[in-house]
Amino acid sequence: TQRTLAIVKPDGVANLGHILNAITLHGLKVTQARMVRLTRAEAETFYAEHAARTFFPKLVEYMTSGPVVALELLGRDAVARWRQMMGPTDSEAARRDVPDSIRAQYGTDKTLNAVHGSDGAEAAAREIPFFFPAERDA
Ligand code: ATP
Ligand code: MG
Repeated sequence: TQRTLAIVKPDGVANLGHILNAITLHGLKVTQARMVRLTRAEAETFYAEHAARTFFPKLVEYMTSGPVVALELLGRDAVARWRQMMGPTDSEAARRDVPDSIRAQYGTDKTLNAVHGSDGAEAAAREIPFFFPAERDA
């Protein structure tokens, strides 16, 4: 059993119900949830690995454009299974290649892509306390 961090990004919040339903249907459990509007500094820290990329300012602008919903997900292979459910980063590519994915259904393009998922166990261990600093097991 493994934990991962999911974020329903500002453009995904309108479809929060559908996204939570998909998570449940795939057998992952939501063990913590929090709605928060990120500050610029928080968004920059969360995505610090991308600080040198040309899309970074646009990414920070996007992630601070409205509230997000952070979710801790629990289940077997939760990191990989949530990444698979999300689909490719680029929502248009997702619609072509994985039409039943979350990004295919609820994303717009390669920036506005509805959801985030930790890309490995190490990232999950860093990202879960970012949103849930006083974690307690559910
Ligand atoms: P995330 O980390 O949000 O789960 P990801 O792991 O699929 O997404 P990353 O490469 O980590 O993709 O990029 C982080 C985020 O930056 C993407 O989800 C997207 O919002 C934005 N992004 C990534 N690549 C591009 C790009 N080429 N142009 C514009 N925005 C991008
Ligand atoms: Mg990533």
